[in-house]
Amino acid sequence: MASMKRISILGSTGSIGTQTLDVARWRGYQIEALAAGKNADLLVKQVREFGPKLVSCDAGIVAEVGAQLPGDTRLLSGVDGQIAVAQAEADVVVAAIPGMAGLTATAAALKAGRRVALANKEAMVAAGPLMWETARVHGAEIIPIDSEHSALFQCLLGEDKNSVHSLILTASGGPFRQEPADLSKVSPAQALKHPNWSMGNKVTIDSATLFNKGLEVLEAHFLFELKLEQIEVVIHPQSLVHGMVRFNDGNIKAQIGPHDMRLPIQYGIEYPERPPIPLGPLPLRGSWDFFAPDIQRFPSLELAYEAGRKGGVAPTALNAADEIAVEAFLRGQLKFTDIPKLLARVLNRAPADTLSWQNITEVDREARKIALELL
Ligand code: NDP
Repeated sequence: MASMKRISILGSTGSIGTQTLDVARWRGYQIEALAAGKNADLLVKQVREFGPKLVSCDAGIVAEVGAQLPGDTRLLSGVDGQIAVAQAEADVVVAAIPGMAGLTATAAALKAGRRVALANKEAMVAAGPLMWETARVHGAEIIPIDSEHSALFQCLLGEDKNSVHSLILTASGGPFRQEPADLSKVSPAQALKHPNWSMGNKVTIDSATLFNKGLEVLEAHFLFELKLEQIEVVIHPQSLVHGMVRFNDGNIKAQIGPHDMRLPIQYGIEYPERPPIPLGPLPLRGSWDFFAPDIQRFPSLELAYEAGRKGGVAPTALNAADEIAVEAFLRGQLKFTDIPKLLARVLNRAPADTLSWQNITEVDREARKIALELL
């Protein structure tokens, strides 16, 4: 029977957003509100198909979108529009606007006491302790839909946190896992070709530098409130084992699934239920490999640990530096191998302050400023 869950999506026109709408087609969800950026054509198409009551988009395309919407749709723009979408009456808000740009709306959904199905990993990295504090005060839930964290969440169910030795995040290793040996000349086009997943540009470049795994280490540290030393990373090129939990008694629990983000998205929305999906079962064939990550070639991963150890505002600053570095790399302004160098220099200059909702915007802005100067 089709479930009539009411869903709102932040970032509906992106990779996660469109896959969430696939799940909505499977499950017959009612779409309450959608927020997008600049893709007017796709947003209008989505509104025509799903009929949300409220829509938000970039201020630059309001006139274009407004002219094509059904008369009873409320149209807003900018951050205020995103907040309204996040707080619209709904059972689940899928938070999939990437980067710090997604934080305000993600936090707004928590303040409204919603279940947040979290794709916006940067919000957890930049503001982890604040996100949990806000969720607890307002009775909100945070269920990860990042595939590795969905895996860990599932492996941790029914377990006592004190029995956990460590969390193991798997990484595909990205397009440059084996070659070229010299990464200084790789182009944005090469870095955008991910072997296993089709995702937005930012997360794809982060996967190529392995900084995505660094972000995920910090995301896991904050999300599951475990020590940084308890988070391990292992390279697993097949991307079928998404995450594992190692327990004190030596047992390891793993979660396995196809590389299809619609599974963790549906899980995050439906948890604790597991309704069937219209896809065939994953064939269990072939060999699966596990390797240690090469931190010489991919130093970005280690920088995330360093930021986590430094604590306070350091992860926020590192996240901001990466957003600038990835944009600069995509514009051809920064070499691939200079990304970790830029990150390290911004991290070195991060102040030893405690993070708060009062200083987070300033910390982010300052780190971006330093990164831009260093470029
Ligand atoms: P995409 O780049 O594909 O999509 C981003 C979405 O957010 C688009 O709808 C875009 O709108 C919108 N958007 C971007 N900037 C703004 C802004 N300033 N204001 C309003 N809307 C904005 O990203 P992904 O879907 O790949 O990633 C989303 C999040 O999920 C990221 O945090 C990523 O790390 C995480 N994630 C993604 C995975 C994946 O498989 N894609 C896997 C695991 C995590 P428009 O296109 O209309 O401009």
